[in-house]
Amino acid sequence: MSEPILEIRDLKKSFNALKATDGVSLDLQPGQIHALIGPNGAGKSTLIHQIAGSLKADSGTIRFLGQDIGSLDMAARARLGLARSFQISSLAQEFSALRNVMLAVQAKAGSSFRFFRQVTSDRRLIDPAMAMLERVGLAHRAHVPAAELSHGERRQLEIAIALALQPKAFLFDEPMAGMGPEGSKQLTTFLDGLRHEAPMLLVEHDMDAVFALADRISVLVYGRIIATGTVDEIRRDPEVRRAYLGE
Ligand code: ADP
Ligand code: MG
Repeated sequence: MSEPILEIRDLKKSFNALKATDGVSLDLQPGQIHALIGPNGAGKSTLIHQIAGSLKADSGTIRFLGQDIGSLDMAARARLGLARSFQISSLAQEFSALRNVMLAVQAKAGSSFRFFRQVTSDRRLIDPAMAMLERVGLAHRAHVPAAELSHGERRQLEIAIALALQPKAFLFDEPMAGMGPEGSKQLTTFLDGLRHEAPMLLVEHDMDAVFALADRISVLVYGRIIATGTVDEIRRDPEVRRAYLGE
């Protein structure tokens, strides 16, 4: 197996007496979708927060692209190419979808785009931003304010923003939540294609999506991973069936 993009070892986080993550280890391999499943309160979001840097781990290590990122803040981790989407909405509500993506393109370009007199008409921002919106299927809504987009469209926009940052890995926390069957199907197809651009750690309750997408699945229960394996291995695992799949 190749060097993992993301290497998590023995991560722990307690909230008072509650061990939300209790020694979690996992590897995210290049080109792969690694799904993280488990019941409500298992610690999935806590784990995502710890990896993204919005929550500091009590102990354990996180290596990203070979570098220990445990002491970096969330912005520094994002600059290294760790993109998180969902459950934190960073949309500028009054701005159009296009403008939101342009801000991300600008942020990525950093100091080389230091001064904009006419940000809103700069082709160096508009063209790549529009291309991102096309990729996520939102180009026809480019000029609609973020606040007026539907739930599903906002998720598409958040992905476009994440893409604009040209990430090396994605962290997705329940991207299908609140989406109808058609939206979930579209997003599944989209994520499927995305794995070769950047691997992803995907927390998701929608088992159809998980089974369709995952190269590997880890099952988290009460802060501990009780099983990791391929879709087939996880579906066959008696402990998983008992603890999570409810069979
Ligand atoms: P999941 O995403 O798997 O549903 P969470 O990571 O959100 O689970 O939560 C794991 C456990 O930690 C839950 O029991 C939850 O109530 C608790 N928890 C999460 N965040 C906090 C917090 N900021 N303060 C106290 N308890 C928390
Ligand atoms: Mg959660």
